[in-house]
Amino acid sequence: MRIIIVGAGPTGLLAANLLGQLKIETIVLERRSGLTLEPRAISIDDEGLRCCQMAGLHKLLMEQMNLNLPALYLSHRHVLACIAPTEQPNGFPSISTFHQPDLEETLSIGLTRFPHVQLHFEHTVCSVVQNDEQVQVIVKTPSQPETLFVADYVLACDGGRSTIRQSLAIPLSTPLFPGFGSGKRSGKSTREKSSHNQRWLVIDGVESEPGEPAIHFFCQPSRPVVAVSAPNGRRRWELMLFPDEFIDQQEKLIKLLKQTCERHQSTQLHVSTLTIQRQAIYTFQSAVAERLQVGRVFLLGDAAHMMPPFGGQGMNSGFRDAANLCWKFGLIQQRSATSHILASYQQERLPHVKQMILFSTLLGRLIMTGNPGIAWLRDRFFLTLQKCPWLYQNVSELKIKPHTGYTHGLVLSTAQKWVGRLVPQPEIITMQGEHRMLDEVLGPGFALLTLYNREEKSLVWLERPFWQRMNVRRICLYALNQRQEVKQLEGENQNCLVNSEHVEWLRKHRDHYWLIRPDRYVLAIFRVEEVAEIEKRLEHLFTHS
Ligand SMILES: Cc1cc2nc3c(=O)[nH]c(=O)nc-3n(C[C@H](O)[C@H](O)[C@H](O)COP(=O)(O)OP(=O)(O)OC[C@H]3O[C@@H](n4cnc5c(N)ncnc54)[C@H](O)[C@@H]3O)c2cc1C
Repeated sequence: MRIIIVGAGPTGLLAANLLGQLKIETIVLERRSGLTLEPRAISIDDEGLRCCQMAGLHKLLMEQMNLNLPALYLSHRHVLACIAPTEQPNGFPSISTFHQPDLEETLSIGLTRFPHVQLHFEHTVCSVVQNDEQVQVIVKTPSQPETLFVADYVLACDGGRSTIRQSLAIPLSTPLFPGFGSGKRSGKSTREKSSHNQRWLVIDGVESEPGEPAIHFFCQPSRPVVAVSAPNGRRRWELMLFPDEFIDQQEKLIKLLKQTCERHQSTQLHVSTLTIQRQAIYTFQSAVAERLQVGRVFLLGDAAHMMPPFGGQGMNSGFRDAANLCWKFGLIQQRSATSHILASYQQERLPHVKQMILFSTLLGRLIMTGNPGIAWLRDRFFLTLQKCPWLYQNVSELKIKPHTGYTHGLVLSTAQKWVGRLVPQPEIITMQGEHRMLDEVLGPGFALLTLYNREEKSLVWLERPFWQRMNVRRICLYALNQRQEVKQLEGENQNCLVNSEHVEWLRKHRDHYWLIRPDRYVLAIFRVEEVAEIEKRLEHLFTHS
């Protein structure tokens, strides 16, 4: 199997690493002469880091990050909310920041692990033509006006202005409720328009004396401002601009930033030590492609969806796309599934992406509003919320962010609420005493997870052809105090110890088997007496055409 990826942005580079690990021949075509030097994305969430873990690059990437930052929402000297999650269900912090050129460089270095993955710069894809068997990709290079590449599948990771999306005539739509965020002017002042229509000035600089490591949302309606601390003393400032406003004088900018800090009594942001390195104006958009697949061509990342950056979800959503799709090609290559499973990419990703766009747009609309009336109501709402700790906790723990939960696609829906969700990732201890993260022992393929299962004999069904073909790895977790008993069990390598408090979710289903997909989503939860039925349904799910 050969796959062509168009675009070496974060989405394309992560997808190439994931395909590289699956030993799939992959060609990445990028029109620029090198990786981007332009920092755009700045924050990554726990799921994004888990996707990087799938590519085996999380440790390298995390060395270059500011991990686990709090996000403060400030208005008129009040702290409206402080988001600082204490729980890490995915095994990683919820908010970390990075420098995009460093992240892309590490992702591209990751590709050097795979001789079967090539990255070509100065290769501009002009169009794609497909039939039932293959896709032809027409490419322009500095030396050849037209050259042809052929592949089994194409992943269009070519950004918001995607040539491929346009050549396939896939329309973009705004997945919001009527009258909200349609992108049309309301006829009122810009301050009253939705955030994604506003122009924002984005400034990247370095503080010679690094200030507070945090993300500050200064929510004053006269001019909403965001400040994000990043590694190596960097700080990103984002300022809402008024219609036709341009601020290009650095002294004026620094004065504005200082005024913002003074108004909110934020003395820990060292604006006077800031050297501005880059500034650019962005108009943020909310849009999603109506289809994510046309035949053998798939849209991923910004080519498939765009959202304002206030939830820090654009790149993270692209990472989820790559993690969702790539393992499915692996199954097809090893003939464990037929190509119809690829339709599940759109079924699974589209609903979640729409929720993320809505979430990010609402955040911008409410938190970064330029409307004094909405701002007043917002402040009253948050100050009241703080008086109800159990409700406020949903905000401070970031539980308000839309979570993925597949009801359609490659999942065996049952009454079990965990089916279609990401399995939590606690720390486990191997029988050799090593502390590892769960995904490391689950391995790159399917895994069958059980808790306190002592009946080895009940697993003979795993020897049957279907389970062998799916290459299911068996992992059994035991409580820390069961170490001695477990040592006497067979299959020591498949047994691990875990702090029981970290597997509350599994304890409720201790007589069940949890079948986990390679992208760490729960495919099925079942009892031993249901195995025959589950096997039949899985066979149908993966191999019917
Ligand atoms: C100011 C700002 C702040 C942001 N902050 C965050 C954040 O904190 N967290 C977050 O998750 N997201 C954030 N985002 C969004 C994030 O930057 C994007 O979602 C992400 O960069 C998209 O990655 P991508 O790889 O899909 O597309 P891109 O990064 O746009 O990459 C597309 C690549 O395709 C190449 N290409 C295009 N056309 C062709 C062609 N025809 N042939 C060959 N190559 C082609 C381009 O040169 C480019 O390299 C932010 C965005 C902005 C603007």
